[in-house]
Amino acid sequence: MHNAQETVADPAADVFTSPISEKPLPKRAMPELPAPPHVVHQLLRNELLLDGNAAQNLATFCTTWADDEVRRLMDLCLDKNIVDKDEYPQTAEIESRCVNILASLWHAPVGSASAESAVGCSTTGSSEAAMLCGLALKWRWRDRRRAAGRPADRPNLVCGPVQVCWEKFARYFDVELRQVPVEPGATGLQAHQLRRYVDENTIGVVAILGVTYTCTYEPVAEIAAELDRLQTETGLDVPLHVDAASGGFIAPFLHPDLEWDFRLPRVASINASGHKYGMAPLGVGWALWRDKAALPEDLVFHVDYLGGDMPTLALNFSRPGGQVVAQYFLFLRLGREGYRRVHQACADTAQHLARQVADMGPFTLLYDGTGALPAASWTLTDPASTGWSLYDLSDQLRMRGWQVPSYPLPPDRQETVIQRVLVRHGVDRDEIELLAEDMRRAIEHLDQGHPHDSARIGFHH
Ligand SMILES: *Cc1c(COP(=O)(O)O)cnc(C)c1O
Repeated sequence: MHNAQETVADPAADVFTSPISEKPLPKRAMPELPAPPHVVHQLLRNELLLDGNAAQNLATFCTTWADDEVRRLMDLCLDKNIVDKDEYPQTAEIESRCVNILASLWHAPVGSASAESAVGCSTTGSSEAAMLCGLALKWRWRDRRRAAGRPADRPNLVCGPVQVCWEKFARYFDVELRQVPVEPGATGLQAHQLRRYVDENTIGVVAILGVTYTCTYEPVAEIAAELDRLQTETGLDVPLHVDAASGGFIAPFLHPDLEWDFRLPRVASINASGHKYGMAPLGVGWALWRDKAALPEDLVFHVDYLGGDMPTLALNFSRPGGQVVAQYFLFLRLGREGYRRVHQACADTAQHLARQVADMGPFTLLYDGTGALPAASWTLTDPASTGWSLYDLSDQLRMRGWQVPSYPLPPDRQETVIQRVLVRHGVDRDEIELLAEDMRRAIEHLDQGHPHDSARIGFHH
C-alpha cells in the first residue's frame, strides 16, 4: 500500500509505473494529491480508446474529421467566450459574418444583397436553434391571438417524424406536438396530410430537410403551397419552419434548384447544424429568420458593445467561440465550390455503397444516396426467412469496429427495421469499400447459421 507520502510521483518513473497508474483511477471522489499531467493524459487516452473510433462511426451526422488549421484555430480560441461581445468584438463580428453568409446561401430577403444585416445567431447546435425558432413561432402566434381577442393558452406545433429536439421544445415550452403519422411507403410528412392537423392554435409547421431516420427531404415547397392554399381557403396564416439540421449545408451545394429555403415566402425560419455537414467541430448550430418581423423583439436581449448595441438571443450564456471561428474558416477555405466538391464526393461514395448493398442479395434499398443527404439505407427484404436480423449484422460489423446502426422506423412504420450509413467529410471511398467487404463476409457467416447473439447495440440519433 502507498501512503500519502509515497504517492508523490517520481519524475523519472515510467508512465505506467507512476502511483496513479498502478491502481484503478478514482471514480467517485477526487484524489487528495495531484499527479503528473503526462501520466494522467496517457491514462485517459487509454480509457477513451474504449469509445471506439469516430471515423468508423457511420451512424453520426456530426463532424469527425478536422484539418490541422481547424485544430489550431480551436486551440487559439480556447479562451474566447462568445457571449463577451465587448471583450471579443472580432469573434462577434465573425459570427455576424457567418449569419450573413448563411442568409445569402439560403436566399433571405435581407443579407449580403441588402444593407440591412441578416437576422440570426449561432447556437450550440440545431437543438438550441430549434428552441429559439420554436419560441419565435409561439410568441408570434400569441401576439396574433391576443390582438384578435382570442385565447392563447393551447398552442400546438405540427410536424412529421422529427428529431427529439422538437419533442423537447414542445415539453419544455408547453406546446402540444402534433406528430403526423408516416403513411405506408412514405418517409416523412406529406402536404396532403396537413389539413387534418392544422388549426387556429397551430403556431407553425416544421418541415425537415434531411429526415434523421431515412435521410430524405420532406417536400418543403409542397408543404408551403398547401399552407398557402389553406390560408386562401380558411384565412389561417400558419408559418413554416425548416429543420435543415443536415440538409441546410447539403441542398445549397448539391441541389441548388430545390426550393426549400427563404425563396418560399411561407418559410419564416431555418435551423442548421454547423457541426454536421457544415463541417465545423462539434458545438455549433445556426438559427436564421426571414426578416425582423419573423423574430419577436422581446426574445432579443440588448448588450452594450463598444458603445454600440449588440442584440443577443440564446438559451445559454457562456459558450466557446472557436466553433464559430472554425465555421468562418471553412466558409473561406472551401468556398461554395469546395463545399460542393466535398459533398459530391460523399454522395458518390454513398451511391457506390448503395449499389453494392443492392447486389449483396438480402437487402432492399430504402435510400440510394441520390437527391438528399449523402447516405444509404436499406432493410432486409424477407426478415422471416433470412434467419438473421439487421441487429445481428450490426453486431458482426461492430467486431471489426464499424458502427452501423439498425433501428425501427418511427411510429406507424415501426415494424420496418432499417440500417443506415452516413458518408461525411473524412469518410473515403476505400474505407467504404472495406466496409462492403466486411458486410459480404458477415452475411456469409450469418448465412451459415452463426448469428451473434450479443445485446443489440445502442443507437443515438
Ligand atoms: C441532428 C438533428 C437535430 C439536432 O441537432 P443537434 O445539432 O445535434 O442539436 C435536429 N433535427 C434534425 C433533423 C437533425 O438531424
